[in-house]
Amino acid sequence: MPTAAELRTAARRHADDVVAPHVAAWEAEGTFPREAAQAAAADGLLGLFAPKGVGGQGLTFAEGMGVFEELGRGDAAYAFALSMHNAVAAAIGRFGSAGVKRRHGRRLTSGKALGGFSLTEPHAGSDAAAIKARLKADGEGFRLSGTKAWVSLGGEADVFLVACRTGTRRGTKDVAMVVVDATRDGVELVRRYDTMTSAFLPIGEMHLSNVRIEADEVLAPPGSGFQAALGAIDVARTDIAAIAVGLAAQALDVALRYTRDRAIFGATVLDLQAIQFALADVETDIVAGRLLYERAAALLGTPEGPVAAAHAKRFCPDMALRAAIECAEALGSYGWLNDTSDLPRRVGLARMLQTVDGTREIQRVVIGRDLVRRAAAL
Ligand SMILES: Cc1cc2nc3c(=O)[nH]c(=O)nc-3n(C[C@H](O)[C@H](O)[C@H](O)COP(=O)(O)OP(=O)(O)OC[C@H]3O[C@@H](n4cnc5c(N)ncnc54)[C@H](O)[C@@H]3O)c2cc1C
Repeated sequence: MPTAAELRTAARRHADDVVAPHVAAWEAEGTFPREAAQAAAADGLLGLFAPKGVGGQGLTFAEGMGVFEELGRGDAAYAFALSMHNAVAAAIGRFGSAGVKRRHGRRLTSGKALGGFSLTEPHAGSDAAAIKARLKADGEGFRLSGTKAWVSLGGEADVFLVACRTGTRRGTKDVAMVVVDATRDGVELVRRYDTMTSAFLPIGEMHLSNVRIEADEVLAPPGSGFQAALGAIDVARTDIAAIAVGLAAQALDVALRYTRDRAIFGATVLDLQAIQFALADVETDIVAGRLLYERAAALLGTPEGPVAAAHAKRFCPDMALRAAIECAEALGSYGWLNDTSDLPRRVGLARMLQTVDGTREIQRVVIGRDLVRRAAAL
């Protein structure tokens, strides 16, 4: 069993050798690179937080979070897909029934199956308590119907964790989380979004029409499904913060290499103090972002976890966007060429990271509520 440090090294190698050199081809083809995910699985990167009993690595979030920084260096859209998959593998491995673990556990950690997470609906994003997907009892099991939006790995993943409700009134009391086998009748990707940066990562709208759900596929029963979703999202927010730090760190390496080698006014661009100052600020921000996601990872699962994750998620993608723009600027006009560096793509990806798993405003809502609680106790 590899150690956490060895897994992080493997993730760095995977990002450098398997991801970064091939992203442009993946984007041109517009298909998700299953073979890359298989290679990640062979390195132990698809079951980071899943228990060893289902073939996972059994890491704590604090031990494993650095893997996402390394994957973020390669490509943030790919890293995001793997972070979601890891969350699904961990949830099924920890909380799944014996049957669900047997059917999906090892398939997920070995990369034979990919996992996705579906909470959002066309009318319910930030306001997740407004979801309508309906779970109805049917004999010994259930039937699930509804429309899910922004389903990453839609049409590609084999297993989804889907948030749904047993009644018709908005709120969180009857929200459940179920395991949906994507091969079942009634599961269909009906619209694939045309996005700014993720041609190879399918994202779209998924129709669920009377999909059979076995009794043992209810991962979190009505009443605890919303809390389960929020718990998964706190982990996902920390993953995203780590991915953003990796995105920024790689952007800085690109800028350092280019400015070191580009001759100007009898010296190099990196000799210009204005450029050093700009890149110094990028480096300070990266160090700060790393401390924030590492702190959040250590606090996940404690009462301070949600706010710590919100701080990291609020800061890191904004920081990554500033870093990608600043680093592109250091390359002058070459910073805008897609074939000189991937910095233009990184600008778009940082923008994506700002929105996924809760927008910048929603992180401030979480932090603001905590401040109000603190003010009441002053
Ligand atoms: C690339 C990508 C991949 C995604 N993948 C998935 C996935 O796999 N599974 C999944 O379930 N979801 C996924 N999402 C959905 C994502 O989580 C939602 O898009 C996000 O939560 C925002 O919801 P919304 O788009 O409906 O915006 P809305 O909720 O309609 O918000 C609109 C605007 O209002 C602001 N706002 C909302 N509420 C408040 C408030 N209380 N105070 C201040 N401002 C507020 C928002 O910040 C935003 O600027 C993905 C999104 C993207 C962009």
